[in-house]
Amino acid sequence: MHLDGHDSPALAAEVDRLLARRTRDIRLKGEIKNRFRARVWPQTAKIIRSWMTWVALLDVLTLALNMLMLPRSVAHSMLLPGAIIPPVAVAVVFAWRKPQAAWLQGTSLIAGMFLILLSVALVGVSAGGEFYERQLNVMLFVAITAIIIFGIPLAWTVAIAGLALGLYLVFQLQNPAIGLGSAVAATLFFASGIFATVAARRIMTILAQKTFLFELRDRRRVAELAKANQRLETLARTDPLTGIANRRWMTETLGRIWGSDKRCLDGAAMLMCDIDHFKKLNDHLGHSEGDRCLVEVARIIQENVRRDHDLLARYGGEEFLVLLPGVTEEEATSVAERIRKSIEAAAIPNPGSRVRRVTLSIGVAVQSADQAISPEQLQRHADAALYLAKQAGRNQVQLHTPESTRNQTIRVGR
Ligand code: GH3
Ligand code: MG
Ligand code: MG
Repeated sequence: MHLDGHDSPALAAEVDRLLARRTRDIRLKGEIKNRFRARVWPQTAKIIRSWMTWVALLDVLTLALNMLMLPRSVAHSMLLPGAIIPPVAVAVVFAWRKPQAAWLQGTSLIAGMFLILLSVALVGVSAGGEFYERQLNVMLFVAITAIIIFGIPLAWTVAIAGLALGLYLVFQLQNPAIGLGSAVAATLFFASGIFATVAARRIMTILAQKTFLFELRDRRRVAELAKANQRLETLARTDPLTGIANRRWMTETLGRIWGSDKRCLDGAAMLMCDIDHFKKLNDHLGHSEGDRCLVEVARIIQENVRRDHDLLARYGGEEFLVLLPGVTEEEATSVAERIRKSIEAAAIPNPGSRVRRVTLSIGVAVQSADQAISPEQLQRHADAALYLAKQAGRNQVQLHTPESTRNQTIRVGR
């Protein structure tokens, strides 16, 4: 049985339709009915098995007590019919151990109930006298407990009620102690009681079905909410134009992993990438061409980093920030250089640029294992290196060094 919320829309609509009805008009059909049965089966089966076990135990106990307390001949006459119950009860327990085809389960239960009720009645018939009518009453009592507590389909309940009343009528008609009129009158009296019991059982079942419908609806709503939440979360961390992460996500992620991720402490590099003369591209080719360029540049950068290790985000209009955890200075500058070359090689037109194509300037800052700094500080270093790359003529990679803060730099790219 799956209640995972991935129900078909048709099923969801049926659940809502049923819940909109008056409670007493709820009728489960098809898929929902099967699911309800599967849901309540373990509970129903457990109740039936335990009822059967207790009836068998009480039967054996009663027969034993009778042997002690009743005249021997009477007690003996009860033994044979009374002996029917334990094997029948055991057979029903066996049939209700595991879910079977509905018809098999219904047949075994109804046949078992018939034999048990018959046995109770025959004990009285066989003993005769005061026991005749008393056992018939006990039989109805036994039937009523079963009707009330067995959460089975209404048709099965009605079958059990019908069998109990039928047995009662048949044996009362043969009761030498009473006449035809009083046999029929007694049957009608008990029939009204049993009818009320069946009606009560039906309401109990409908209420259980309603609870089940609420459960289905709640699970669906929870699943829908979770999905909506996930979608919102994705939206909140994604840059809508390029589809890569946005600045907010990068800031949050840096804050989270800094200090907790061992790889970051072992040296991490930040690459601040900025498209050269992007304003001119917009001016010459229009804003939508600029947008297309941003998408393309984001894709190329993404292709040049490890998807499962490195973090990439669109940081500003035409700025991209890359975090490379656990790399050396050489590795970081070589990744940056690879990105720069790939952008250049893509030859995205930028008529406003001297080289007439889109190029990228990249500032690289590396945190070494021995001097841990904050992500903000590392980013400032990358920014400073980027500034130097722009100053030095663009389309190049600059590595931040302690000296570069004093305006000396090592030129890496180009
Ligand atoms: P530099 O080489 O010094 O970086 O020059 P630049 O023109 O690239 O830098 P500047 O900061 O002067 O201009 C950035 C431009 O990016 C300005 C802005 O119109 C444009 N821009 C920012 N966001 C978007 C966007 O989402 N789409 C487009 N098409 N343009 C954008
Ligand atoms: Mg910029
Ligand atoms: Mg720029």
